[in-house]
Amino acid sequence: MRDLIATEVNDFAKEHQTKKTSISDPHQRAWLEVNQSALEANTTAIKGFLSRGCALMAVVKADGYGHGAETVARAALQGGAVELGIATLQEGIQLRQAGIDAPILLLGNLVEPQELKACLHWEIMPTLSSMGQTLICQRLAEASGRIFKVQLKVDTGMSRLGCDIHEVSTIVSGIKGLSHVVLKGIYSHLAMADGGRDDGSLDVTDSQRRRFNEVLKTIPDIDNGVCRHLANTAGTLRDPLLHYDMVRVGLALYGHTPFNGNEIQLNLKPALAVRARVTLIRDVSAGVGVSYGHLFTTKRQSRLAVVGIGYADGVSRSLSGRIFALINGRQVPQVGSITMDQLLLDITDFPEVTVGTIVTMLGQDGSQCISPKLWSNLCGTIPWEVLCGFKNRLPRVVV
Ligand SMILES: *Cc1c(COP(=O)(O)O)cnc(C)c1O
Repeated sequence: MRDLIATEVNDFAKEHQTKKTSISDPHQRAWLEVNQSALEANTTAIKGFLSRGCALMAVVKADGYGHGAETVARAALQGGAVELGIATLQEGIQLRQAGIDAPILLLGNLVEPQELKACLHWEIMPTLSSMGQTLICQRLAEASGRIFKVQLKVDTGMSRLGCDIHEVSTIVSGIKGLSHVVLKGIYSHLAMADGGRDDGSLDVTDSQRRRFNEVLKTIPDIDNGVCRHLANTAGTLRDPLLHYDMVRVGLALYGHTPFNGNEIQLNLKPALAVRARVTLIRDVSAGVGVSYGHLFTTKRQSRLAVVGIGYADGVSRSLSGRIFALINGRQVPQVGSITMDQLLLDITDFPEVTVGTIVTMLGQDGSQCISPKLWSNLCGTIPWEVLCGFKNRLPRVVV
């Protein structure tokens, strides 16, 4: 008898390991659903919004904002993006190893010559902020007989990466004198393009734009294949004056804007859905405390659904008792503390829910949609952090 059980358990484990994750897999407690055609359609919609001659870089850092960098990169390139933005060397190498050969710009800063050497090898353009880095690139490229394509970043008001605006012309002419380094782009980054109308953010963005223009004036023959870019999603959507030769778009690609209202008329589709299953149903009487800390007490005889997803998967504990899930397009309240691996829904008014019912925690379900903006407003963060917050424990299903 014991052996029979052992065999069955082993078979189950093997089957479970080798099986490709699919939505219909009843053993899956929770998963991420990535909609490839939404990614592609969003790219096309953004592309159509850009000024004439303006190219689109798809920002796929942080594993494509949690959607899977390779999936996003392929969909975005299909949809009309011509360049990819990543944050770390590893992210770039992963895309190259997946066979993606589009131009890649590394948006972070590299410190070690070894890292720059890897950039050269994998044809990833590094972001340079100083002449020192430029000279290292020259040395490495000369030694290997290759041409090093790089981009220069200038700080126009973010005070993060980039050289000082007064250094630009010196560095640019310095690069011109180097035999093995080619300047492919010059760019800067906006600090407040997603701000409100009356918090000074428009002024800050405008002064960044003017500084960027001044910088470009100091490098006269910049037009020879040097790509000028400044805008992220917010800048791209807010002001065509920020478009230049290219824009670097992340958030909108994934179907979201940084803005609360509907001021932007772009038909973007959320590309990510977070789904989980009901794993157990409990009937409890009125006056019963629910989950850690008894944050919630039932007011009536209630039916609770235990759902197999928690903060270790990326559903922030600070959302406890403040969100709802979607079941068959209807809003079902979440009650009590969200725990590490599970949370509870009050399904007293939803008699159709059974063990195994699929619950949408975030994203589209029928005509209804829960946006990352809703969550981020509730827990005091931004939609970017919500999207990047989903953990590897959640399998990703591309649909
Ligand atoms: C992340 C990033 C972007 C994309 O920002 P979104 O607001 O998501 O569009 C653009 N540029 C740089 C330098 C970035 O680091």
